[in-house]
This record gives sequence, structure tokens and C-alpha cells, in this order.
Amino acid sequence: MVADLHTHSRFSDGTDSPQQLLDGALAAGLTALAVTDHDTMAGWPELVAVRPPQLTLIPGAELSTHVVAGERVISVHLLAYLFDPDFEPLARELERLRQDRLQRGLTIVDRMVADKVGISRQQVLEIAAGAPVGRPHIARALINIGLVGSIAEAFSSYLAANSRYYVAKSDTPLLHAIELVRQAGGVPVIAHAGSRGAGRISSWEFFASAQRAGLAGIEVRHPDHDPATRARLANIAQDLGLFTTGSSDYHGENKLLTLGQEQTSATTLDTLLSVSDSGMTPIGPGW
Ligand code: AMP
Ligand code: ZN
Repeated sequence: MVADLHTHSRFSDGTDSPQQLLDGALAAGLTALAVTDHDTMAGWPELVAVRPPQLTLIPGAELSTHVVAGERVISVHLLAYLFDPDFEPLARELERLRQDRLQRGLTIVDRMVADKVGISRQQVLEIAAGAPVGRPHIARALINIGLVGSIAEAFSSYLAANSRYYVAKSDTPLLHAIELVRQAGGVPVIAHAGSRGAGRISSWEFFASAQRAGLAGIEVRHPDHDPATRARLANIAQDLGLFTTGSSDYHGENKLLTLGQEQTSATTLDTLLSVSDSGMTPIGPGW
């Protein structure tokens, strides 16, 4: 059993359809896959419908959360597995996050339009195709009009947090999100815990407070993490009794990553599953 527990489809800001994503998982030699689209489980029915018989699917999502540190509001992504998607307080919060993503995306586009950047709301909404709007969708629109040559250039020139067009999201407070996921019977794991927002605050104390709120695991093996970061996070996890995962954070053509380039073992997956009490189970061989 080899699992990749953090991937994205067209149902958020990845570029693969469910079928393409699952074909890619098989080609990469994976036997289990979690598709963790941003702030939504909307892809789940289609994933289940096109699942190849030999592949196990684990339901999940990646939640947009934040931590306040002094004057700074730091974005932290929280992976949530096997939660009850019908648990009202969490379902309502996910809906709020998606609405916020839409308004925030449109505000970024409006700022660009006011500055004569030649994209439109309609172009971005067509690219997102109903998915929760993310900056990669706006990046695609900038590529389509020939203003930039790559997603990376779109981010560095137009979409980074220090850009004049940038608008922050109104994300869920991290500890509240962890509690909601646990109340929904799910398993919360901090994504890319040593990079981006989380990397700026990833002290022992930070993880200890998250663990007290119900955190179950830390994504340690992630393409963004160097060996020293992995070692530091693994030590903290062991100290706090948290399990560690490895995942690619695959986004199709929106990022230079390959499915299965970081992996999670069967033993860890068993630990993860034992935390869930939502009644949700993986779908596939052995379940
Ligand atoms: P958003 O959710 O709208 O804040 O956008 C964040 C998304 O953009 C995440 O999925 C990141 O993986 C992706 N992202 C952030 N920075 C970059 C970058 N420099 N190049 C490509 N993708 C990025
Ligand atoms: Zn992700």
C-alpha cells in the first residue's frame, strides 16, 4: 500500500479531471489516494464513480485557515480526512469559505481591470468552472492573454501577497477549524507544515496548541521541505504523539509536481483511519 494524501483536481485549483487524476495515480504506482480540493468535497461523487477497482480513495479536503501572530495574519492550510460532509457547522463554514474565495477573486480581478490588465471576471469564472476560486485560476487568465509565460511568473509579478492586486481571504481560525473537523468525526493534519504560512510559525509551541485542539498529524514529507525541515518537524511530531504524512500536493499542470513524489505508508494510513469516527470510510480494496 502506497498512499499520496494531498492532491488537487479541477474541483479546486488543479487541472486534472477526476478520471485523469486517478489514471495518473495508477500510473504512478499508488494504491491509495486522497483528493483534497480547497474548501470543498464537490469532486467526491465523480471520483467514486470513476474509481479504478484496484485504487483506494480516501475522502478529504484542504481547508483555508489562519493564525494571528502579533500583528500578522498567517495563512495555514489544514488537511481534513474522513469527516462527515453533512455535519452542519463544518458544511456551513466550507460554504462561507467558498463564497469568500469568489468575492476575493473578483476583487483581485477588479483591481487588475482598473489598472488596465486585460482580463475579465468572466474569463476567470470560466477557468474556475464552478470550483472555489483561487489565484491559480487568475494566473491562467493572465497566461491566456499572453501577459505572463507561466503560473510562477503570474504569482511573482501579479498575485503574491506583496502585490498591489493581492487581497487576503477571510479564513477560518486554525484552532476552530481543527475543532470543527474533529466534531465532524474527521482527521485534521497541518499541510506543508514547514513552508509558506505555516513555515513562519512552526514552533513546538504552535503544534502543541494545535494538538490540544485536536490536531492528529503533520504533513512532514512535502516537496517544499528540505531535509532539515523534515527532521525538525518529525521530531516535534514524535514528541507530541502526532503522526506524519508524505504527500505530493499535486496540482496537475498548475505546479511542477508529480503524483506520488512523496508518500505515506500503510501503517500511518491505519493510524489516520483509527482517528476518524465519522462513519466515513475509504472506498476501495480492503474497505
Ligand atoms: P489561493 O488559494 O487563492 O490563496 O492561492 C494559493 C494557491 O496557489 C495554492 O494552491 C498554492 O499552491 C498556489 N501557489 C501559491 N504560490 C504559487 C506559485 N508561486 N506558483 C504556483 N502556485 C502557487
Ligand atoms: Zn494543497
